[in-house]
Amino acid sequence: MSSHKRIARALAPFVIIAMVLVPSLRNTNAGCDCSDCTNLYNRYNQVNALLTEVCAQKADLHNAGQDNDPYNSGYYDDNLLQTWKDAMGSAKDQWATIFPSGNTDAFCRPSYDAYQGNDCMLNSVKTHEAVHVNTCKFIRANNPGCIGVWRQDFYQKGYLDCVTWKQFYDDEINAYNTELNYLKGELDGLKPLCQAMGQWCKTPDPGVSPSNCPSTVSPPSLIKKAAEYVFGR
Ligand SMILES: [Zn+2]
Repeated sequence: MSSHKRIARALAPFVIIAMVLVPSLRNTNAGCDCSDCTNLYNRYNQVNALLTEVCAQKADLHNAGQDNDPYNSGYYDDNLLQTWKDAMGSAKDQWATIFPSGNTDAFCRPSYDAYQGNDCMLNSVKTHEAVHVNTCKFIRANNPGCIGVWRQDFYQKGYLDCVTWKQFYDDEINAYNTELNYLKGELDGLKPLCQAMGQWCKTPDPGVSPSNCPSTVSPPSLIKKAAEYVFGR
């Protein structure tokens, strides 16, 4: 036996013990540890604020009788985007350092920001985009007109061209709720360990229930534009 093999044999029990112990310092397979608590908690509060905003807009849309008007753009309208940014800004934690974001394109391909190699925060937005990817694939499979092609005005016709406003909001609500479940699950799992180690980690308040969302925001101006859109153009 070579000396390398002897050393490997001698170390094997310790390696096995380390393999058992080290994962226990992490939570599930998401790659989160106590150093992620601040960013997880911040993202939870920001997503919760966004969900509240999205729910309010959905309620206003319903009250305006525009549930079935088509969502006419593959991209967010500036006004809507700003409203969402404001909601996120008001919930932002000054200690947070990683702010994940993602997108799903007209071909159902998800993309994510750079996360400094942080899988924990990357997985947060992955859970969100996975909902959109599923919706996108379903809509494309059931509507041959939504196949993702270059249009005359150089934007890709995609699944958002083939959904109503209500479907758009419901899809976002599903995506945010899925992400909230991920964030809460990670924080719930980390909290006992981190607190035992004297590190800050807090369990978030319960998420907003979509059915209880208050309707306090006036309908975004772009809903008028959507009403003018000719479906299937
Ligand atoms: Zn989304």
